Amino acid sequence: MAEKPDLFRTYPQLAVRVPHVGLCDLPTPVAAMPGLGEALGIESLHVKRDDLSAREYGGNKVRKLEFLLADAAHRGCREVLTFGFAGSNFAAACAHYARCLDLGCVSMLLPQENAAYLRDNLLVGLAAGAELHERDSVPALAADAAWQFTRHWLRHGRRPYWIPAGGSSPTGVLGFVNAAFELRAQVEAGDLPEPDRLYLAMGSMGSAAGLAIGLRAAGLSTRVVAVRVVEKKFAGARLLDDLLHQCCGWIGNLDSGFPVPDPAQLEVEVRDEFFGGGYGVIDSDTAKAIRRTAELEHLGLDGTYSGKAMTALFRDAAAGACAGKRVLFWSTFNSRPLAPLLADLDHRRLPTRLQRYFRDGER
Ligand SMILES: *Cc1c(COP(=O)(O)O)cnc(C)c1O
Repeated sequence: MAEKPDLFRTYPQLAVRVPHVGLCDLPTPVAAMPGLGEALGIESLHVKRDDLSAREYGGNKVRKLEFLLADAAHRGCREVLTFGFAGSNFAAACAHYARCLDLGCVSMLLPQENAAYLRDNLLVGLAAGAELHERDSVPALAADAAWQFTRHWLRHGRRPYWIPAGGSSPTGVLGFVNAAFELRAQVEAGDLPEPDRLYLAMGSMGSAAGLAIGLRAAGLSTRVVAVRVVEKKFAGARLLDDLLHQCCGWIGNLDSGFPVPDPAQLEVEVRDEFFGGGYGVIDSDTAKAIRRTAELEHLGLDGTYSGKAMTALFRDAAAGACAGKRVLFWSTFNSRPLAPLLADLDHRRLPTRLQRYFRDGER
């Protein structure tokens, strides 16, 4: 479990400069999807199972936390402070793994469409002892975050470690640069052919950014297709470009031997047509793609992220854009059952405001 990341094996200088803690079970499995491939007319279709990235709480965010939480501990922080929507997978995973490393977690949350997974993620935070704050708007949340940051700093005499939404700081993005080197090792081992197209959902953009940088640095020519599932003000081609520049500059400074790609040449295909009317809103195309994937491959997807990425793949396949291509679908949500983490939890211990998700939900 605490194995050296593939990235560090190739670039030992990075291992000297960058703190890391093993939280994941890597590599995550790669599997062929012949049934879905046949239905979509794609001869070579595989899935990368990041939903199984860790034993207790999987999904794509744990890769980032291996670097973020190690950095926080290395800097002597006692707590992390992070951001997300109320049902944020990142906030939940962060709270859980912070607790595993004896770090506290303060989560600053924005309201979102109610869903069963949202309630589960709030409870994961509660179980981990995280401090949860919800505010109605981005400005109100930012103001409260500044206050919470100061309050915790005064209380502990140390600043909390600040983590942007989704864990997509350059440090967090390194988790996905590493994922690209992991994928290369799987290609070399014959687990899958080198993909032409890689589909994944894009929220805070760190996963797409890390893969785009890492794949090119690892010598693969795979094209990343990043399917936006959050509002335009949070993600898009321009914002992704900024993040790519920031990350490439940072990594180049860490290790001059690392083959940092030119961010302008990375050509990530950002897709805006699958937002489906709202974050966490499941439109009929997404529901259908999720149902078909379950029927043909027994593979579960979530409606907020991975289902929309799959909808893009369905649409492209129907339009002929995947003909003759080797396609990889990156599964990003957590598929581990959360019941073991949530036993005997009472949602009435949540802050009063957040309890409303339980009143008008079906729980
Ligand atoms: C956060 C998340 C994503 C998107 O990853 P980013 O790095 O934030 O773009 C995709 N799928 C799921 C299930 C997620 O929770």
